[in-house]
Amino acid sequence: MTMPALFVSHGSPMIVLDRSPTRAFLEGYGATLPRPKSILVVTAHFETAQPTLTAVAQPPMIYDFGGFPEALYRMNYPAPGAPALAMRAAELLQAAGFAPRIDDSRGFDHGTWTPLKLLYPDADIPVVQLSVSPQRDARWHFQLGEALSPLREEGVLIIGSGSLTHDLSAFFGRRPPGGPSPKAYAAAFAAWMAEKIESDRIDDVLDWEVGAPEALRNHPTPEHILPLFVALGAGGPHRRRIHQAMDHDVLSMDAYAFASG
Ligand code: ZN
Repeated sequence: MTMPALFVSHGSPMIVLDRSPTRAFLEGYGATLPRPKSILVVTAHFETAQPTLTAVAQPPMIYDFGGFPEALYRMNYPAPGAPALAMRAAELLQAAGFAPRIDDSRGFDHGTWTPLKLLYPDADIPVVQLSVSPQRDARWHFQLGEALSPLREEGVLIIGSGSLTHDLSAFFGRRPPGGPSPKAYAAAFAAWMAEKIESDRIDDVLDWEVGAPEALRNHPTPEHILPLFVALGAGGPHRRRIHQAMDHDVLSMDAYAFASG
């Protein structure tokens, strides 16, 4: 059974505490998929110059956020790591001309553990994390995903975890005077991306910085959109938006599945 590749928007870490449409979606979605043998998460919160895979037998937790309720800092996601999968993924990347690295100490950042806690709450499926490289463009990340695509036939669920829009200055209330409301520019970006992805306009998607409405306003830095391009490259040709929501008027929480059939 070939697994799809997914993109999910993880939003604020509060997603695991507050009730929301996106939380409800993620809580229900894992059970609709064939059970993966293991999971590879491409996380926006792991930035490196070269593609880096975590190979830790029992990954610790990283609480890589500040100013949130104490309950979040007590959360645990005790899934095992999958060092053998990290090595296999590194081989695939090497064969495709990348220069992968292995990190044998890094734990789960919240780009990984918050969506997984909702998708797979039993924490019994081994997990590897893959970094993004913000100095590289969308095409490079798409090719990274293409190189990893064979893993889907080996029972690996590849999940890009980022945010479809990510203007945090607006999220925290520092909205610029005048101009369209944050909701309008974030919604326009999300609608553009859905239209391009679902009509297979992949070149347009990869040229997002010049073609998408208010691209740099929605992504002042690119790390939260890059996991989308990895998942797009890794996944199959049946591309659809599987969830649509807007958090705090400005964070698009959209999710996508890229399946083989
Ligand atoms: Zn994030």
